[in-house]
This record gives sequence, C-alpha cells and structure tokens, in this order.
Amino acid sequence: MCGVFGVVLPPGSGSDQSAAAIASLGLFALQHRGQESAGVAVSDGDQLMLYKDLGMIASVLDERRLPSLKGELAIAHCRYSTTGSTIWENAQPTFRLGPRRALAIGHNGNLVNTRELLGQLRGGRGRLPASTDTELLTALLADEPAADTVDALVQVLPRVHGAYSLVILDERRVIGVRDPFGFRPLVLGRLPADSLRATSADRLAIPGLWSAEADDDDRAGWVLASETTALDIVGADFVRDVEPGEIVVLEAGRAPRSVRHAPAGSHALCVFELIYFARPDSYMEGRNLYEVRRRMGEELAREHPAETDLVMPVPDTGAPAAAGYAEVSGIPFREGLIRNRYTGRTFIQPSQTMRHRGVTMKLNPLREVVRGKRLTVVDDSIVRGTTTKQIVALLRRAGAEEVHVRISAPPIYHPCFYGIDTQVETELIASTHTVEEIRDFIGADSLGYLSIRGVLAALDLPYDRFCFACFDGRYPEPVPYDIASRKFLLEEDALVASRG
Ligand code: SF4
Repeated sequence: MCGVFGVVLPPGSGSDQSAAAIASLGLFALQHRGQESAGVAVSDGDQLMLYKDLGMIASVLDERRLPSLKGELAIAHCRYSTTGSTIWENAQPTFRLGPRRALAIGHNGNLVNTRELLGQLRGGRGRLPASTDTELLTALLADEPAADTVDALVQVLPRVHGAYSLVILDERRVIGVRDPFGFRPLVLGRLPADSLRATSADRLAIPGLWSAEADDDDRAGWVLASETTALDIVGADFVRDVEPGEIVVLEAGRAPRSVRHAPAGSHALCVFELIYFARPDSYMEGRNLYEVRRRMGEELAREHPAETDLVMPVPDTGAPAAAGYAEVSGIPFREGLIRNRYTGRTFIQPSQTMRHRGVTMKLNPLREVVRGKRLTVVDDSIVRGTTTKQIVALLRRAGAEEVHVRISAPPIYHPCFYGIDTQVETELIASTHTVEEIRDFIGADSLGYLSIRGVLAALDLPYDRFCFACFDGRYPEPVPYDIASRKFLLEEDALVASRG
C-alpha cells in the first residue's frame, strides 16, 4: 500500500505557486499509507525534477527542499514496500528518460506478472537501477515507441496485470491511471483558484486573479489522490473516482480528458481499504469510512454479543467499530488503551523485529479503567496474531478480569498479491489455526469475527463491487502460482545475473 498524489495548478497561478508544495501537502494526508520513503517530481512544462528519500514525508519534503522544485505540475508518493527492499533506489516517484519521453511515476498497488514483463524489457534486469515492479513499468513505458505518453500507456497496459493506481508526470501533463479492476483507490478533485490561494504561503495574490468567473473547468487546477482526505487538505473539491480501466489526463488550461485502456465493467476495490487501511474521514464508493466502520461494529455486536462491563477500542483504527458495537449492545464505551501517536502503524513495519517493538512502544493501558472489569475489545483485523496477543496480555496485567476480543472483519485466510504485504500464507494465523486456536493463542476469553455477510450489510453494497480475496480466496485477477513470496523477485534476478 502506498499513497499517491498529483496536481496541475490553475493556469496563471504565477511563479509564487508551487505544485511541489501542494503535492507535499496532499501527501501529508496520506502518510498512513506508507512510511518508508517519500518523494515528489515536478515539471515546469519543459523539464522534470525529482527529489525522494527514505523516511517520513515531513523529514523528506521539508522547506529546504521544496523551493528548488519549481513547476506547475507535480506528483508525489509515499511508500510501503510490496516489491523490493526499503532502499533509496526503490523510493518513488521513479524517473526515466527514454528516447521519446521523460517520465516520473508514483504507483500504489502490486503487479502480478513482473517476471513476464521483465522478459519484455530490452536489455533485461541489468537496465533497472531499482528492484521494484514500478521501475520496470516505468522503463517499459519510457521505451515504448508511441509518440505520446497516453498512446504508450494504451499500448503497454494491456500486458500489465495486477493492481496499479498510478500518477504519471511527463513534461506537460499529470496522468492518473487505474487498473481494470480498480483494486486501489484513486480520486479526481478540482482545485478552485480560491482554495489554492488559501493554501498558498503568499496571501497577497493580485485581486481579480481569483474571481469566480475564472473558475470554469479550463481555468481550474486538478488533483489526483489515493483518498479524498488529501483533496480536503489542499482545498480541492471531490469530482469523481477514476474508473477502473481509465486514464485521466490533466493539462494546464484544459478540462480533464478520459481515455480507456480496458473495458468498463469490472470492479474489485480492496474491501480492506474500507475496513482498515484508508482514513476514516475519507469517502469510498460514496460512503464515509467512519460511518461504514461504525456500522461494521453494529453488525459485529449482533453476530457476536458479549456480556461485559465495557466496550473498548484498540486505538485508533478500532474506534469507529467499537462505537457501533457499544451502541447496539448497550454496553458503555470507554477508552482503555492510550496510543503513543508518534510511532508508526505496526502492520506497516516491514520486519518482524520492528513489528514487535512497535506494539510495545505504542500502547499503554489505563489501569483505573480496566482494573476488575470484563472487557469487549474491538479491533479491525488480526493478521499474524502477535499484536492482539500482546494487547490482551497488557490488559490482563493491568487488572482486566475478562478480555473478549471482537474483530470487525472476517478472518484473513489468504495472502494479498495486490499491494498489501501479506504475501506468505503461513504468516496469517487464520490460515493455519481455527478460531478457537487463535483465541487460545491470543489468550482471550472469547473471540468473534464479523462475517462477509456482515461486512456487506454495513457497506450496503453488492459483493461484486469489491475484492474479498484475503477472506474467501476468490482472486479477481489470476495470480501465477510462483508469485508467493516474490516480493524480492527483481532482487533475486539481479543476483542471478551478477553471478553470471
Ligand atoms: Fe484487499 Fe485482501 Fe483483495 Fe488484497 S486480497 S486487494 S487486501 S481484499
């Protein structure tokens, strides 16, 4: 999972306005989607410039860097690795200068036919400076002989399989692309000149430049983002989702243009985006995610009631479901775990050691609240089980009498190949343990998961709008058998090549 953002400033924004600053601001709202690296690429209409580094957005894209990144078009990316190691070379946006075009790309998702695509790259693995599927895609697009970037996309994308929501920058345009299933979200926003002024450091803009009549579509700015929350932070209005199989072309001084690279009709948005990954203040499929999660908690209370004294969320992501659970059950809602807000999300930490440290660093129980109480503890997922086990132990040490765990999602039986780093089935506790065995492992008094039917009732949308593959194994896009544990596929290939 990653965060992507793209912006084309309104024409006449002037040299004071910086697309890089707007893109960085938008990216801040997407920090939860990736914390390993951040970067921004800009174009002044003639040349592309790029800055990226390992680390959080605030430390990479700070005031010292941004002023040198001039231009009215920009894309930005924050990374959580699903292909390749966490090294500088693998940070995004990628950049490539081909015979026909210069390109920078930010990618959210994971390709499933990387080896096949590598076989199509002239010069092979040795030409790639990084070991990500995005680097490979960038090279294929830069090599494509079609004169125009959009034509190159239409030529190349039918050969590309898997999950990709892309923001692409060439000299003159920002282009948004979503794969034919729309696994990862991507939204289009409109940036009225007034809101740009509100986010600009220079509030002394010339009167009249921002007049309402100048705000028709060919005078507006345009934004692409992984989530609507990033539109909010830059003052852009939500226009619509980029459709699965669609290319949206943004150019200064023109209304957005839509081109299809795959037929319309398929929909398989990752349901986990709605359950857990995306921010609760974002909207997907026309639903506010806080409300969706609260309703999941209501369904959970109906499916798995518990006789306890308090309903308690695992902060922060379990809070909306816990609120819904408390409302339906009539059991009081109380905060009993305090989260240190300055540590990363444990699931996103790439190694087991980091994950373990993350859990103990980030949660502390409120002894006065939990002592002597029977607790219903609501969380949104159990992946490996180690985090939940530690939380139950923390609460028991703090004096909880009973701990009943309720999960506002079904058990995760299958790995994800579309951009979430659960690529090894044996890492998923539900794939090797029954619910009773998981209860025993985490040390809870009882354990209940929301059913797929319960998720759909909360969403009030049909099953075929979503990917549920990690819950039911029905992968919308076929996954080659040998892709399991292929996160480092391009690194293994480089090693083989270097050994001759
Ligand atoms: Fe989302 Fe699971 Fe599908 Fe992956 S397999 S896209 S995590 S629902």
